[in-house]
Amino acid sequence: MQTQTLERMESNVRTYSRSFPVVFTKAMNARLTDENGREYIDFLAGAGTLNYGHNNPHLKQALLDYLASDGIVHSLDFWTAAKRDYLETLEEVILKPRGLDYKIQLPGPTGTNAVEAAIRLARVAKGRHNIVTFTNGFHGVTMGSLATTGNRKFREATGGIPLQGAAFMPFDGYLGENTDTLDYFEKLLADKSGGLDTPAAVIIETVQGEGGINVAGLEWLKRLEQICRSNDILLIVDDIQAGCGRTGKFFSFEHAGITPDIVTNSKSLSGFGLPFAHVLMRPDLDKWKPGQYNGTFRGFNLAFATAAAAMRQYWSDDTFERDVQRKGEIVADRFQKIAAWLTERGIEATERGRGLMRGIDVGSGEIADKITGKAFESGLVIETSGQDGEVVKCLCPLTIPDEDLQQGLDILEESVKQVIA
Ligand SMILES: *Cc1c(COP(=O)(O)O)cnc(C)c1O
Repeated sequence: MQTQTLERMESNVRTYSRSFPVVFTKAMNARLTDENGREYIDFLAGAGTLNYGHNNPHLKQALLDYLASDGIVHSLDFWTAAKRDYLETLEEVILKPRGLDYKIQLPGPTGTNAVEAAIRLARVAKGRHNIVTFTNGFHGVTMGSLATTGNRKFREATGGIPLQGAAFMPFDGYLGENTDTLDYFEKLLADKSGGLDTPAAVIIETVQGEGGINVAGLEWLKRLEQICRSNDILLIVDDIQAGCGRTGKFFSFEHAGITPDIVTNSKSLSGFGLPFAHVLMRPDLDKWKPGQYNGTFRGFNLAFATAAAAMRQYWSDDTFERDVQRKGEIVADRFQKIAAWLTERGIEATERGRGLMRGIDVGSGEIADKITGKAFESGLVIETSGQDGEVVKCLCPLTIPDEDLQQGLDILEESVKQVIA
């Protein structure tokens, strides 16, 4: 495989190609193929960007049809038929059946673009600067989003520019099972000399993706919503990774029965892996003046076409979400067995997650890397997350065939046994 040009020309900043140093050429659903024709099962799926798999045939057809019709590709934020269809589909298929009423902002196409827009909107709407965020949270790496991101490696890469406007609270479980970390947040809010500037908003991932598949309890999320309501603080759910079905519901917060004031989606939103993001906001929060927030790529028509097709294909009834939950249980079951096997051999390991967003915490980044490295040798693309990379995580396409899911899990189990033997 020819990798010299790639190694020579691409900046040192590259990451995933270090874990998976082959040249990929093709992909279909949960399988990737490299230049030598070797196939891999994909348990990473673009860090949750390919919930409907690689080159999903329904979505590919929608894209091809749209291009073949000379549909508008770029339009700044002009009105297009594709945008109208996207908004109508979102309203009919997703929002109305869930009793949700949101206006939609189309920021730039990446996750961090959506987070920047969301937190700025919260500041504009509330006239306050502070955003409360949580330990191990990941919200993107541009300055505003980075201020709300816990990871020290990213935070230290600003060249010394201070990151401002965010305060960290302990996520659910951060202080052990027996402490409700919201006691601390609530106490600070009530304490006139607690040092916490009254926040405009709280931003949270209901299941932390990059932070190590940390799952916020449903009661804890309800309490968080209630604390926000009674203190006039906006609740932003960053559903960029956990949304679009990853946890077994379209929005990850549905499990808790809460209604955020603002929601961000990106990663799997286009369905096809095209860059695309939106911000959902309670209609009365739409305090933007025309053009007060802009960008060249505000809504990508090709993504409107594939996103609308994905909603129609997978979300018109509950068949898909039930299937995701079923597969999530298969993964949970196998991960629990692997964790128990490790624990019996003196490596304290636990399984956690929701839906098809699951991980095994093996306690050390070094062990986790050995496992994922061995898995890759055996044909499985799988990554780690968490502060030390100690969590081996499964983010396989939600559309993965059962045989591929089982095969991927078999490879993982075998890799664990080879590494620990
Ligand atoms: C990936 C991610 C982001 C940032 O998205 P980018 O497209 O990488 O900027 C923000 N929040 C969460 C929860 C994410 O997983």
